[in-house]
Amino acid sequence: MKRDAIFEFFRRLAEANPSPTTELEYSNPYTLLVAVVLSAQATDASVNVACRPLFERIQAPQQMVELGEDALREAIKTIGLFNTKAKNVIALSQALIDVHAGEVPRTREELQSLPGVGRKTANVVLNTAFGEETFAVDTHVFRVCNRTGLAPGKTPDEVEAKLEKIVPRPFRRDAHHWLILHGRYVCKARLPECWRCPVVDLCRFKPKTPPPGERVKSSKTKASAVRSASRESSKARIAKAPTASPRTAGRSRSRPSRLP
Ligand code: SF4
Repeated sequence: MKRDAIFEFFRRLAEANPSPTTELEYSNPYTLLVAVVLSAQATDASVNVACRPLFERIQAPQQMVELGEDALREAIKTIGLFNTKAKNVIALSQALIDVHAGEVPRTREELQSLPGVGRKTANVVLNTAFGEETFAVDTHVFRVCNRTGLAPGKTPDEVEAKLEKIVPRPFRRDAHHWLILHGRYVCKARLPECWRCPVVDLCRFKPKTPPPGERVKSSKTKASAVRSASRESSKARIAKAPTASPRTAGRSRSRPSRLP
């Protein structure tokens, strides 16, 4: 995608949603970090449901450690991979107490040294809690960047490196949220909703998904075309079927039984 098109791409996403942010509920960098760790391979909605009552009681690493792994596991048992996640959250809370005086660190390296925290989680925390211009590449961002041609790459790291290079200055802080939300609600995995996409003319994905009404019409048209083609071909088969020649006529008929 050319520079002008990239600028226009983000300008339109920004126009549609001037203040994008995470859909995870949190009250401070620590609860954000915990929510992001819990959101791996789970929906933000499911994390919010489990964390709402949890975060009413727990706001800091010390409180989490005091709560303990068993009680945490019970609190988050509706979230996928809750066993591993409970273990990681207790371990990272203990590490925050031991190494960072109970505070969430502000560098990627320090964040990634915490149990259960990978590059994507670190990028989300740096961006959302501390306002850094980082580009967390989750499944939605990866798909949108590849489909549209905005920042194609074979791995999330490749896509992130491209985004680092190409996202224009005014959009760098919010780019990752625009891309996530665009992927989650418009450029969906199974059926991108191209007919209502604000960047449809800039995106190189083909074929574009038509509006629902047209999809029904076109599938009906295709079905009726298939039906009429099959009617025509059976007529043609009947017309072409060989007819018995005068010489062979009657050969297939059963012979008259011999007279006794
Ligand atoms: S036009 Fe379709 S494929 Fe392209 S970004 Fe929009 S929704 Fe996604």
